[in-house]
Formats: sequence, structure tokens, C-alpha cells
Amino acid sequence: MQQHSTAAHDEGAGAPHEAHAPEAETHRAAHPLNTPEELRAIREAVQEGRNPLTTTDVPRWEDQVGISRIINRRVLELEPLPTPAQVLAELSMSPKAQDVVEYSRDEIRACLYGQDDRLLVIVGPCSIHDPSAAIDYAHRLSALKNELEGELLIVMRVYFEKPRTTIGWKGLINDPDLDGSHNIRKGLLLARKILLGVLDEGLAAATEFLEPTSPQFIADAVSWGAIGARNTESQIHRQLASGLSMPVGFKNATDGSVRAAVNGCFAAGQRHTFFGIDHRGQACAVQTLGNPDCHVVLRGSDSGPNYDADSVSRAMSEIRKELPEDSAASHGLIIDCSHGNSGKDEHQQARVVRNIASRIAGGERGISGVMMESFIEGGNQPAGPLPSLIYGKSITDRCLSWTDTETLLRDLAQAVLTRRWI
Ligand code: PEP
Ligand code: MN
Repeated sequence: MQQHSTAAHDEGAGAPHEAHAPEAETHRAAHPLNTPEELRAIREAVQEGRNPLTTTDVPRWEDQVGISRIINRRVLELEPLPTPAQVLAELSMSPKAQDVVEYSRDEIRACLYGQDDRLLVIVGPCSIHDPSAAIDYAHRLSALKNELEGELLIVMRVYFEKPRTTIGWKGLINDPDLDGSHNIRKGLLLARKILLGVLDEGLAAATEFLEPTSPQFIADAVSWGAIGARNTESQIHRQLASGLSMPVGFKNATDGSVRAAVNGCFAAGQRHTFFGIDHRGQACAVQTLGNPDCHVVLRGSDSGPNYDADSVSRAMSEIRKELPEDSAASHGLIIDCSHGNSGKDEHQQARVVRNIASRIAGGERGISGVMMESFIEGGNQPAGPLPSLIYGKSITDRCLSWTDTETLLRDLAQAVLTRRWI
């Protein structure tokens, strides 16, 4: 959509339409896109089973500004969103929330570089779909974070963007009402509100970055970022990570390739120039400095897990061949106990966490952190509008229950304590 929109404006400014230019400019200033009446006509045509892009009796803003109908043949609607500057100003961070972000990013870095012997634990739902349940979970986790903070650095998974293998609910930002209405404006604001609520609990947030422009609206409230298994080879996501202000974990690819994640860390560590938007939503060439705090996340694959000691040591040698000795990645990695490492079964996920706890207690190094998918209720349920759902239960991947999560976090803390005496 972004690219179509840019193309439309470029073509509109071109020579073939010069005769229409002054009038077009006036109209565009008044109605940059379709008017509400025009949008109604477009939606009616869709409901009647007609394609409004090929039917000439349905008005299009492209016609009115003299842009040829050879573009935007498959773009129904362009709905302007608030700019990042507007969203950040409307939902600004309190000084306390800013402190939580700044301090926790430093603490995460210290764990990743081994200056802090605590285990980083990124734990929370596969996806956020209910603001109340998210804050309820954050409240519980915050108490446990304080209790175990001598051994664990607990960060909450606050995931709003879901990459799908094929199709499905794409997360709270894309469809906050869970009904296919795709109210992105509402989703963006809601996501930011939830992040601020989590920070208010004194808890740092981790998220997956999926859309290349969405970080402009929320990244200031995030302390750890992920590039998911489906995007670890994507140049767009590597460029994005090179400019993010927090440490970023690259998942191994869905086919199990660790090399893809190692290359991701290497690429994101370099300087890049690429297409993006600024705080006014203006398209611009973005220049980044490179992110030295990238590291690998082992998440298993369709063909099996990779959390065992052998897989970890093989991954570490692959990482150390490519990345500098003093990088975060060369120091250690994160094990995602869910996804391909658990076959997406929460009971297996609990076994994986216990296996890692016993290895840590036995003195194993190289594991800087673990990731767990956990919510209030265990398991998952099909996605649907909020009133139809069981409270506190995942609508994406199966999660550990809160009770099991508490036990497992205490096991991990005990393991770190034991390792200190080895
Ligand atoms: C997730 O963290 O929920 C996720 C989709 O992970 P992955 O990219 O490893 O599949
Ligand atoms: Mn998941």
C-alpha cells in the first residue's frame, strides 16, 4: 500500500498530466484520497460483487487528479494513519516508563555480553489480543520478576504483529477487533497503550518487528526485539534491525538454518541506507549506524528441535566463525523453548525449560537467555471476537498456564543460583 501510494503521487506529478496539474493540486489538497461518499460507493460495489477498480461508474480519486488507471489496479483503499509524531505525542511515555526502557536495555545487554550472570527470560503470550488480560498478566509477572531478580532478568513478550505461514489473524495492530475489520488506526494506538501499561508495571517489553514502518510508532517502549523465523533472511528486516535502539534476536529459519540467523546478525551489525518513513510519516532515505547487539535465537524447526547441548555448541561455532569475538552473538544465544523446539505443545515446552534448567545448574555456558510462551490459561483457542473468547487464553500458539510458568521460572532461578557455586 505504501509503495502504491508513493507511485501514485509520483505519476501524478509527471508530464502527461501537466495540463490538469493546478486543478489536481487543489482537489488533492481538499481530498487527498477518496471522499467518504466515494468510499461508500466503492464498498457498495464490492458488496454487489463488482470490482470497483475496473468499473468506471464508481468514482476513484485517481480519476479526479488525472492519474491513469493503469496504477492501483488492486488497491481498494488508502486510509491515512496518524503520523508517528502524533501518536508519540498523544500517548507519551512517563519519565518512569522511559527509565524502565533505558535501564532494562542496559541490563539485557549486560546479560548478552556476559557481564551479568543472570539468565535473560523473555516470557509472555504468543500474541496479545485482550488489553485487560495483557495487563493482568503483566501485573502477575512483575511480582515474580521482583522476587527472582537476583537470578533472572524477566522481560515480557508483548507481541502485536504475527507473521503467518499462510493466512490468519495478523495480530492486534492489524485487526484489534478480531473480526476482519482491520482497524489499524485503533490497533496502533491500542498497542502503544498496552506497552505503556506494561512499563507502568515496572516490566520491560519484548516484541517481534514485522512491518517495516510500525516501529516508528512503538519501538521507544520496547527493550528487546525479534526478527522472526520467516523474516530472518529478509534484507528489509536486517536493515530495520540495523537501526533499532534495542538488542535484537534473529531466529533460525523455519527450515532450521542457523546460518540464516548468523547472516542476519552480521548484516544488521553494518551501516545501511534504505527506504523508510520519518516521524512525520514522510518517505525518506534512512541511514543507520548498525546494531552491534544482535544475537541468534534457536527455535527449532519442522524437522525437530535444536535446544540440546550439541545443537547449541554447533550453533556457537558457526556464529564465532562469522562474528567478532566481542559481539553479543559470539558470547551466547537465546533458546526459544516453544515453536519448533516444542512442536508447539505446551507440555513439551515445559520439559524443554526443565531440561535447560538442569543443564544451567550443571554449569553449561553459552545460553544467555530463554524464551517461553505463557499466558494465564494454558493451551490455546480459535481466534474470534473478544466476548466469544475464554479470558487469558492464547488465540495463536499454545501457551504454558500461569501456574506452570511460576513453577518453571522458580526452577530456572534455582538453576542460576546453583551454577554460581560451581
Ligand atoms: C513467535 O514468536 O510467536 C513466532 C511466530 O516465532 P517464530 O518466528 O520463531 O515462528
Ligand atoms: Mn508463537
